[in-house]
Amino acid sequence: MRQRGQERRAERDAASVVKQCKKNKEEERIMAQKNAVQEEPMQEGAWEAAEEKHTAVAKCRACGADMIYDAESGELLCEHCGSRVAISAKTSEEQAFERLMQEGGGWEDSHVFRCENCGAQEILDKLEIAKQCPFCGATNIVETEELPKMRPNAIVPFRVGQKQAGAQVKTWVRKRLFAPQKFRKSAKPEKMKGVYMPAFSFDSATTSYYSGVLGKYYYVTKRVNGRTVQERRIRYYNVSGSYERFFDDVLIQASGTISQQSLNKLQPFQTNDSREYTKEYLSGYTATQNTKDGLACWEEAKTTIDSRIRSEILSKYNCDTVSYLNVSTQYLNITYKYILLPVYVGHCKWRQKLYNFFVNGLSGKVTGKAPVSPVKVAVTVVVGIGVLIGLYFLWRTFGG
Ligand SMILES: [Zn+2]
Ligand SMILES: [Zn+2]
Repeated sequence: MRQRGQERRAERDAASVVKQCKKNKEEERIMAQKNAVQEEPMQEGAWEAAEEKHTAVAKCRACGADMIYDAESGELLCEHCGSRVAISAKTSEEQAFERLMQEGGGWEDSHVFRCENCGAQEILDKLEIAKQCPFCGATNIVETEELPKMRPNAIVPFRVGQKQAGAQVKTWVRKRLFAPQKFRKSAKPEKMKGVYMPAFSFDSATTSYYSGVLGKYYYVTKRVNGRTVQERRIRYYNVSGSYERFFDDVLIQASGTISQQSLNKLQPFQTNDSREYTKEYLSGYTATQNTKDGLACWEEAKTTIDSRIRSEILSKYNCDTVSYLNVSTQYLNITYKYILLPVYVGHCKWRQKLYNFFVNGLSGKVTGKAPVSPVKVAVTVVVGIGVLIGLYFLWRTFGG
């Protein structure tokens, strides 16, 4: 447990605080809508029996071919003979925060590859070999001596198949109206790869004590140079109190291959319904190596938590401006999951620049950056101005 020092912040625009607060409420609403726990069919021992016969994770018991994880059914599928094996994984459990300090290693059944072009590091099952980088499409990929840093304890398995994800991307690309025509044609959804992104999700109860000075606008009427004008003044008042709040599954991404902003746009991932990690889910997919450790992610989670607490406290008061607000927060009963999130990664090159787009492998939601065509923007602006001029003359002729 850590006591946070008092911090004094500069005056902040009240409007932005209220806006941020609304956004947080929306997030809360989405979180609350999360489905009830959905149980997978469990075949106790089904997989253990298979493991006795083969050392391979994913070998078909019927024909011996490789099996891969099938997103649509949530089972292992033999692409050769069509056999299926259910994966027996329980709902994942929250880990006590203290474990985070000792965490490391333990993921010996996998190995790490590095893309020589963009530097992305991928983790694959020991039996699989990386062929093409999902982030940049390069094929010069080398196996590294490095070990995967930390074994995940939870996973949200892919439930959206490659085809469906591709269809979602096609729709998304079609809506990038300002993207150059060539780019819209070159975004190849069929080349997308399913990659598990590492993230930490934190739960924490919080108790905060706060004190501050807030301000409310009011107006006075004055006469200046013979004219009546309204002048804005601020009435300041003191606030103090305590605030309690439980935070559930604050999600912080742990790899450098996707930004926190993109991850937030892909949410929710229904992390409360995540499975215990077992390597079967990785068959046919890869995971990205984490570049941030659990403690670094917890620091980021605290920043997220602190700013939510701050805006929730402010939303209790009808204020227009904040002179200052000191908040001191205690974090209690912290638990975490080191979790793999299902994301399809696609890439596209436009004028030597790489553009990545991502699809939530659970919901099919798409996010990403697309280049903007200066010609298209210019044409739109010119047409827009033309319409305005036309309207002006219509108004002059008929309205004026
Ligand atoms: Zn088979
Ligand atoms: Zn690459």
